[in-house]
Amino acid sequence: MELFERLKKNLKELPGIGDKSSERLIFFLIMKGKVFSRELSDSIVDLVENTKVCSICGFIDENDPCKICNDETRDKNVLMIVEKARDVFIFEKTKKYKGLYHVLGGVISPLDGITPEKLNFNKLLERVEKNHIGEIILALPPSTEGETTSMYILKLFKDKVQKISTVARGIPFGTDFEYIDDFTLQCSIERRQKIE
Ligand SMILES: [Zn+2]
Repeated sequence: MELFERLKKNLKELPGIGDKSSERLIFFLIMKGKVFSRELSDSIVDLVENTKVCSICGFIDENDPCKICNDETRDKNVLMIVEKARDVFIFEKTKKYKGLYHVLGGVISPLDGITPEKLNFNKLLERVEKNHIGEIILALPPSTEGETTSMYILKLFKDKVQKISTVARGIPFGTDFEYIDDFTLQCSIERRQKIE
């Protein structure tokens, strides 16, 4: 069936969706009927068409600047640097962080051709210099590329910003040390934090 195959092909482009799950979804949609499918497709199109990338921080929102950059109650002295917009979403859910964000749009990876020039560093420099940022928090992925990027940022700003910190590379709760990779263990010791 041509229509079946077309939708299957589209669904399989979504993360985590393979042959079986796409077929299961299609049968579900057929059973659910026209009203549901119309609402689903409209909500997808509305969301995507009305979402903008914030010209200040790189997060996504219906407005530019985004609601975080526009929020007068946030601490404008602290800037958390993340790889992608989804990370902002994840940190916001914790409701613990009250500063601002900066989305780099990737991490430095020379082997993949991702050099600092291809990331959102110009804007970052401009923000730090213009807004007298007092603290930078690095929240980049725990990988070689993430570490390289963190080191790059450290060099770039160590004389410009009072304090540069990094989120602790956590050992997940309930996990035996046996199952933690060497790199994480190493970081957990090197970056041990004082208990107060
Ligand atoms: Zn923003």
